[in-house]
Amino acid sequence: MSDRSRNWWGWGWAEEALGDDEVAGLAQMVRERFADRDFSVIPAPDIAEVGLAPPRVDVPAALSGLVRTDDEDRARHTYGRAYRDVVRAVGGEFAHPPEMVIRPGDEADVVSVLDWAAEAGVKVVPYGGGSSVVGGVGATIEDAPDGWVSLDLTEMDRVLEIDEVSGAALIQGGALGPGIEAQLKAHGQTLRFFPQSFEFSTLGGWLATRAGGHFATGPTHIDDLVESMRVVTPAGVSESRRLPGSGAGPSHDRAFLGSEGALGVITEGWMKIRPRVGWKTSAGVEFTTWNDGVAAARELARSHLQPSNCRLLDAGEAQLSLGVEVGALLVLGFESAGEPLEAWMQQALELCFEHGGAAPGGVTTSSPTRDEEPVGDAGSVEAWRSAFMRAPYLRDGLIRCGVLIETFETACVWSDFDELHTQVTNDVLSALRGIVGDGQISCRFTHLYPDGPAPYFTVMAPTRRGSEVAIWDEVKTAASEAIGRSGGTITHHHAVGRDHHRWAQTQRSEVQRQMLSATKERLDPDALLNPGVLVDRA
Ligand SMILES: Cc1cc2nc3c(=O)[nH]c(=O)nc-3n(C[C@H](O)[C@H](O)[C@H](O)COP(=O)(O)OP(=O)(O)OC[C@H]3O[C@@H](n4cnc5c(N)ncnc54)[C@H](O)[C@@H]3O)c2cc1C
Repeated sequence: MSDRSRNWWGWGWAEEALGDDEVAGLAQMVRERFADRDFSVIPAPDIAEVGLAPPRVDVPAALSGLVRTDDEDRARHTYGRAYRDVVRAVGGEFAHPPEMVIRPGDEADVVSVLDWAAEAGVKVVPYGGGSSVVGGVGATIEDAPDGWVSLDLTEMDRVLEIDEVSGAALIQGGALGPGIEAQLKAHGQTLRFFPQSFEFSTLGGWLATRAGGHFATGPTHIDDLVESMRVVTPAGVSESRRLPGSGAGPSHDRAFLGSEGALGVITEGWMKIRPRVGWKTSAGVEFTTWNDGVAAARELARSHLQPSNCRLLDAGEAQLSLGVEVGALLVLGFESAGEPLEAWMQQALELCFEHGGAAPGGVTTSSPTRDEEPVGDAGSVEAWRSAFMRAPYLRDGLIRCGVLIETFETACVWSDFDELHTQVTNDVLSALRGIVGDGQISCRFTHLYPDGPAPYFTVMAPTRRGSEVAIWDEVKTAASEAIGRSGGTITHHHAVGRDHHRWAQTQRSEVQRQMLSATKERLDPDALLNPGVLVDRA
């Protein structure tokens, strides 16, 4: 049994959330950046004071063993974990919580829940780790006027079978990242899919959102690791065959990858696994200018080297996460189960040096025999990794001080990148100046392809208490319009949810919209599943 509990209003473990003193320290730091603003700290919310409306739907007798209706569980399942979600939770705003949380133990339970919901006219929102940052796991009153339930799949958390000959594992949809890795480790295997939200997100959630993992090049999306999937839809069960590849018509798995709980519940997937990594090498490469870093990143992406980590941070990101002053910082890494990587790192570094890069911390390496004690001191890489994992807890603390802090992401072809970067930066800064008078935006690359990067932006600004969500909506609209205008996608890996719906719709052609609607109507004729997501409301 874990002695830690999940935070019901913010990120991660309740015990890891920043204490009042730490939040006060953050407020002091922010005052130095944004002078003359009110960064007084508001207390963390108390569930006893929130007062959720009672459930509007009776607990179905046949499912009662799977149901919880206590305020804390319902509050935790009301929102995902975007800035706007945490703002509303900290403010005690839970206007439309789920009537109940249902935790199926197996696929038969999932079928029973969908059958009951169809009869009762109640909407069902599949819920994995609840780490959605796009409004994927809640419901508005328009979406579910007669009530909704949160279908929490985390009891379905097992690795059911391993095929070591083919290198694949059958994993249940509700398994969280650490549970998957612990079960595979017993067989010397790994999925090696590490999104920043790894600890608190599930296989089913990754598949349903087409999540992006830690590989900066190569198998960036979870899509690349799927062999087959099993999905319970209101119209029946869809199961694809286990095949390494197939040309037999359109891929059925593709219809469910990115379906965001609106077409069915992903109960299992055969996933491609690999032997555990033994060799790793990393380095932090500093550039004098952002443009030099971008040129080096582009060449690396177009080379044969395929670094596993290749995250370029601009000056603002490097300052924010590491407190270092550089034009740009490239966090570079290679990993392998089978061979030393120094030669690969050397080639990558030479390429960076040609663009004016320098690696003052040298190279850190670890091998199967000295895995616990890496040799070398690429200090900026380790510092970046730990800041990266701690960032969501800091974000929640900053929200309690009245800071607007949020991220958004996209992808575009290299030939559009400069224009996209300029337009997004200018439009967001001008929106911030117009609305709150100050603010900053920074950029990093999370994933890289030979034909383009996936830029990821962080916005930080003072905000006004009580108007936080409306202010962010305006800034986000400016950002999303600029992205659309300059050739980017509304999301590279965060998914669409409710927040990106209108921009995702404009990104689709009329025929594509009709294909999606027809699929929804056929698989979910009563529109039970995650209403308001993927297709327009009826
Ligand atoms: C701090 C932080 C860091 C993040 N880092 C990353 C990152 O590095 N990469 C990345 O891609 N994303 C990231 N995200 C976003 C989020 O973690 C991903 O979208 C993730 O894939 C969601 O998984 P989940 O299990 O939490 O799903 P949830 O948030 O519970 O659900 C997400 C969507 O999937 C649906 N869904 C969930 N489970 C199922 C299922 N079994 N069957 C059908 N539908 C289902 C839900 O209905 C919802 O629409 C981050 C979010 C936060 C807050």
